[in-house]
Amino acid sequence: MTFLNFNLDQDLLEGLDVMGFTKPTPIQEQAIPLILEQKDLIACAQTGTGKTAAYLLPVINHLIHQERDKINTLILAPTRELAIQIDQQMIGFSYYTPLSSICIYGGGDGSSFDREKVALTKGADVIIATPGRLITHLNLGYVKFDKLQHFVLDEADRMLDMGFYEDIMRIVSYLPKKRQNLLFSATMPPKIRKLAKEILQDPEEINIAMTKPAAGIAQAVFLVYDKQKLPLIEYILKAKPVKRILIFCARKKTVKEIEQDLRKLNFDVGAIHSDLEQSERENVLRSFKNNQTPVLVATDILSRGIDVEDIELVINYDVPNDAEDYVHRIGRTARADTKGAAFTFVSEKEMFQFAQIEKLLEITVTKVKLPAQIGEGPVYNKDTARKKSFKNRGREKR
Ligand code: AMP
Repeated sequence: MTFLNFNLDQDLLEGLDVMGFTKPTPIQEQAIPLILEQKDLIACAQTGTGKTAAYLLPVINHLIHQERDKINTLILAPTRELAIQIDQQMIGFSYYTPLSSICIYGGGDGSSFDREKVALTKGADVIIATPGRLITHLNLGYVKFDKLQHFVLDEADRMLDMGFYEDIMRIVSYLPKKRQNLLFSATMPPKIRKLAKEILQDPEEINIAMTKPAAGIAQAVFLVYDKQKLPLIEYILKAKPVKRILIFCARKKTVKEIEQDLRKLNFDVGAIHSDLEQSERENVLRSFKNNQTPVLVATDILSRGIDVEDIELVINYDVPNDAEDYVHRIGRTARADTKGAAFTFVSEKEMFQFAQIEKLLEITVTKVKLPAQIGEGPVYNKDTARKKSFKNRGREKR
């Protein structure tokens, strides 16, 4: 199958060509025809499956043939990074069309707020927004959704995890009753089913979810004492210099500490967490993408949706909160059929939690012996510190 099978507009096919897309991914194969038929859709698909194009392409195709003086499509995304990434794909696909889009997210300066206001008032064709910032504009009264035709909720599960349920329902109350609703989520817990029931009408359902790590990722666990974690990173970074390494930590405090420690050891390192201004985050990410900073330390705000190619190694400095986060973190490597590696540092108190992740994903990750310089690590016992490992792991803002 190729994209020609969908009967898409020529201008859109040219955009696809520029983006280098030739063959649809499975989610695109299934979702595009349904969305073109104007059906509501609930799709269970992870980032990395091509879900963004799965909804953008049919929506753009529909839009090309519409009157274009009002906001036609609203896409809600949980984080600014994801919103920006969706907008970048939107710009690529619609390059040869007259369509306009704008990304609306918190954290910018006053001028970006004014620019957003103009776009919302004059009616950009596609609005990609994080819920909080959009609500701020809605409260000011000038946003008109009366001609809206498509409403997309991307990474709906993450939005609910981040506490956006009320905001989403509030935004929905501003939308016209007759519209196409598309909900994408990496997981389908009952709360997502409930949300879908409230928002979608008679939806078609697609399930592409393989909540399993991609086959190209070589996974390994290092059993370590906490004090061995930093020396082990240093050892790994020096042992085999790689082009791009992403180090994940559950807490922003740890991200900052590792960034400082690695700087002291003379590594070129960047860090991303929720305390940074939006422009700072973008700069750090750009410099990582451009190969100026080979090492990036981040909280889970980066674990989903962020599309940086050729990350050769992901290091989990600590065990992620749950299996989903694990899959998303290590999924940053081995994108699009390439190979990558993912190392997870597991301390004694994290063993039980990691064992839970293995159980859920039905995998057993090889436990690798520590290099001699690092010394002996703890002995593996998946029942160690059962309860302790889950206590004290409240979700802070990342
Ligand atoms: P997504 O799951 O939407 O975040 O997409 C993951 C990555 O796959 C992005 O870099 C897309 O540009 C890329 N991608 C999506 N669909 C295709 C396709 N049909 N052909 C090639 N690359 C694709």
